[in-house]
Amino acid sequence: MAVVGIVPAAGSGERLGASGPKAFVTCAGKPLLDWSLGALAEVCERVVVALPPEVDADGPDRIAGGASRSESVALALAAAPEAEIVVVHDAARPLVTAPTVRRCIEALDDGFDGAIAAARMTDTVKQAAADGRITATLDRSKLWRAQTPQVFRADVLRNALQVAPDVLAAATDDALLVEEGGGRVCVVEAPLENIKVTHPIDLVLAEALLRSR
Ligand code: C5P
Repeated sequence: MAVVGIVPAAGSGERLGASGPKAFVTCAGKPLLDWSLGALAEVCERVVVALPPEVDADGPDRIAGGASRSESVALALAAAPEAEIVVVHDAARPLVTAPTVRRCIEALDDGFDGAIAAARMTDTVKQAAADGRITATLDRSKLWRAQTPQVFRADVLRNALQVAPDVLAAATDDALLVEEGGGRVCVVEAPLENIKVTHPIDLVLAEALLRSR
């Protein structure tokens, strides 16, 4: 099976407050993006990266990303017509490891269309109205925080991405689109360290974790 990695790395990283695109912020001595590429290269035959507009997308397996994360994924997938299994992984998660990617791929053997790295919810989760009043307390024993890598049968993901532009733009992960298309997706418990770099504090934590390896 042809396993192709896709890394959406076209975000601006506004919440991180960096001067340039987040994927190129240095973390433990190299750009965030490079940590993910190293792990994916151990498992994938090739890895297509969606880059922000200000970065030159010339070169093999480098494409210009889209206006939203899902659009960037769709553009990268279009550049990999040979893919049979797709590993989508955000450049914002530099602590991914090859074993985590492999465990997600193996989960497809159980008949799933997709398998995503996820973390069990440890906090109690409240739902609140716009004025802050709590309207529900969710049963955390059934809740998972979705992460990447997210692995799919390529034909299923291609179909799932064929939705209206507004639906594509609103999707915060790929699994959502596959689920809404009727696909079966499972969670794969990921190591606690597979954090996402969003805010400055995440970068401090990622740097410490990467250096402690
Ligand atoms: O903004 P957020 O951290 O949720 O973005 C998740 C991933 O999607 C990041 O790796 C970011 O670079 C990527 N992205 C993208 N194209 C966009 C927006 C975000 O590839 N237009």
